[in-house]
Amino acid sequence: MSEATRILVLNAGSSSVKYQLIDMVDGARLAVGLVERIGERTGRLAHTPHGGERRERTEPVPDHAAALRAMAEELAADGIGLDSPELAAIGHRVVHGGKRFTAPTVVTDEVLTEIRRLVPVAPLHNPANITGIEVARALRPDLPQVAVFDTAFHTTVPEYAARYAIDTAVADEHRVRRYGFHGTSHQYVSRATARLLGRDPAELNVIVLHLGNGASASAVAGGVCVETSMGLTPLEGLVMGTRSGDLDPGVVFHLHRVGGLSIDEIDDLLNRRSGLLGLCGENDMREVLRRTEEGDPAARLAFDAYVHRLRKYVGGYYAVLGRVDAIAFTAGVGENAAPVRAAACAGLAELGIAVDPELNSIRSGEPRVISPEYSRVTVAVVPTDEELEIAQQAYALVHQG
Ligand code: AMP
Repeated sequence: MSEATRILVLNAGSSSVKYQLIDMVDGARLAVGLVERIGERTGRLAHTPHGGERRERTEPVPDHAAALRAMAEELAADGIGLDSPELAAIGHRVVHGGKRFTAPTVVTDEVLTEIRRLVPVAPLHNPANITGIEVARALRPDLPQVAVFDTAFHTTVPEYAARYAIDTAVADEHRVRRYGFHGTSHQYVSRATARLLGRDPAELNVIVLHLGNGASASAVAGGVCVETSMGLTPLEGLVMGTRSGDLDPGVVFHLHRVGGLSIDEIDDLLNRRSGLLGLCGENDMREVLRRTEEGDPAARLAFDAYVHRLRKYVGGYYAVLGRVDAIAFTAGVGENAAPVRAAACAGLAELGIAVDPELNSIRSGEPRVISPEYSRVTVAVVPTDEELEIAQQAYALVHQG
């Protein structure tokens, strides 16, 4: 068994790379950084070493290789460079793992080919993830590169929930089914909720509400995901910052045939100009809440639509699970927006769901219960940590062998 205890976690997007170097002995973040505006005229790197000052660089970052080189230089300057023997593996966030990848996987040429084959169902994400893996491999060819898939946790969703009710042959030919996303977060938060309650995850039924700029819900029965709100793409489900979530597919035909919008324009409309932004011109929940308090009717409508959808999912997942032990709110909105949590759970006393206003109003970065003692369902705020989850999964995998 190797004594290397550090994992570098990479989250490569189309124009950015987020990274964290984590020591698995104590979970310490040895470095946290972000390279952004890759391919633009001026790129930017922000790097914060453990216990140290944040450093910034502004310079052209033409491609992902340059981004990872800049990251490597900053790590080396802190004495924790990529050549360190303490580095056990590099863990990569990969958005789409299709049906095949149900668990973290050491990247081989064959695995990379398979991730590439999934590009048509994740055209915005998988190409950048692949580039991240290729560049990291070139930097440290001897090191295991571990792919951790956003879809993996949802591969246990039963077939009747994962299928759309369309022609099976057409669906299979084009790999059309519900995959779900944010799985790393749902997995981490469902387990962290069990930890918070001092319960065995295998005994606990949890509804996880990941409410960030993207948002998704999942129903987790005894640690196993049985339903989730995102589908073939991260567009299905909840109302999000800029995405519509659920809508009648007929809207697409109508906008195309009657409205004259092209498919690309509709894609842009639904993914980038809808949700809270579409309803009130603002995708940041902080601003929506502020305007709602001022009596702005568009912001109020956006808030109500957001919460209404959330409540429909909570009720639906209650029915899916049969028994709910806990509801966990996480990500930017879920961890910070007390009014969203209160409204999502209001009037659900008959379902055994209640939120204590005082507990709900406490601001904290720690996992915490916000339901009163008498609430049959424990409502909790459980901060997510996708990077730590990726690091733990990668570390566990390289230490198995
Ligand atoms: P995430 O994608 O998890 O980083 O979440 C980002 C979103 O969280 C932002 O777009 C905001 O809408 C929301 N958010 C962050 N902080 C707050 C806050 N204090 N109150 C309400 N919403 C917040």
